[in-house]
Amino acid sequence: MTRVVYVNGRYLPYAHASVHAEDRGFQFADAVYEVCEVMAGRLVDETRHIERLGRSLKELRIPQPMAAASLARVMRETIRRNRVADGIVYLQVSRGAGPRDFLFPAAAVSPTVVCLARSVSPSKLEAAAETGIAIKTMPDTRWARCDIKTVMLLPAALAKEAARADDAKEAWFVDRDGYVTEGASSNAWIIDREGRLVTRQVTPAILRGVTRTTLMDLLKRHAIEFVERPFTVEEAKAAREAFITSATNLVMPVVRIDGQPIGNGAPGLMTQRLRSDFHDAAEIAKP
Ligand code: PMP
Repeated sequence: MTRVVYVNGRYLPYAHASVHAEDRGFQFADAVYEVCEVMAGRLVDETRHIERLGRSLKELRIPQPMAAASLARVMRETIRRNRVADGIVYLQVSRGAGPRDFLFPAAAVSPTVVCLARSVSPSKLEAAAETGIAIKTMPDTRWARCDIKTVMLLPAALAKEAARADDAKEAWFVDRDGYVTEGASSNAWIIDREGRLVTRQVTPAILRGVTRTTLMDLLKRHAIEFVERPFTVEEAKAAREAFITSATNLVMPVVRIDGQPIGNGAPGLMTQRLRSDFHDAAEIAKP
């Protein structure tokens, strides 16, 4: 449970952690965020997460609220105050609060910064990885700049809710041409009939997942071939293996897509190997 939340320079008790009613994050989804894995009290891949936050802020012309090192300090302190050993830390920056107006407020408005951390049971996550998860596919109804990590997550929330109604854990968005873009909160991967790993190339249609990038480092290190190209739902259903990547799920096997078993319906061997080796390639912060 989150006990303490960082809000604009103060560490507040959970029940008192609030932002202004006219925050632009609330009114316009004018905000960006990051979710970082915490392992044994240490941040995983913080450099890449902070760099991506910087990029998202720049794309939206939200001023960087503080130096990267200070953001990292806030994340660490939030983890410490919440006594999180294994879990996640969430950092959000909005353009700030001001009278509702589509136009950006005057430069004097300071961005709103919120940081919270919570524990996630490693054994629960491992249990999910042992059985694998089901996917539901649905049309990608999001905007054209999914490369920016904004809090505009209504299509993702609707998709995950629809997936849950079908006993699936994640939704895969599909573009107009029938190609999978990515998961509602993850990147999508398959291992094709030739044994090659496939994931969609980075364009504004998907988020460049930090877990995706780190996994690619691992693949290069072990000379495991991968291709960045779109794949169809049909190809995914006929794949040898499938999985998703995200900071919260790491490498998570996919065993069913729209009710159809993938491979023999159990987590694939390569997927399991990549999951167990993942942290070898990740940046683990010093304690
Ligand atoms: N795509 C989307 C749409 C996401 O929300 C996420 C998770 N934030 C990802 C991909 C995976 O990104 P990461 O590996 O950095 O968690």
